[in-house]
Amino acid sequence: MPIYEFKCKECGHEFELIMRASANKDEVTCPKCHAKNTERLMSAFSAGTSSSGGFSASSSCGGGAFT
Ligand SMILES: [Zn+2]
Repeated sequence: MPIYEFKCKECGHEFELIMRASANKDEVTCPKCHAKNTERLMSAFSAGTSSSGGFSASSSCGGGAFT
């Protein structure tokens, strides 16, 4: 199940929610202050690599050219 991280812009409270695909992610209420002024944080798992390159040479596993 996908877990999304949210942060409340009102009180700064960060929380996680398990949401279904059909759920409206734009209407998330802060469990602490009940404000709807929340933003979704990018999960470390699914966020694309922001650095340059992406997949390239350094193979950490299964490289096989050791000897
Ligand atoms: Zn809040």
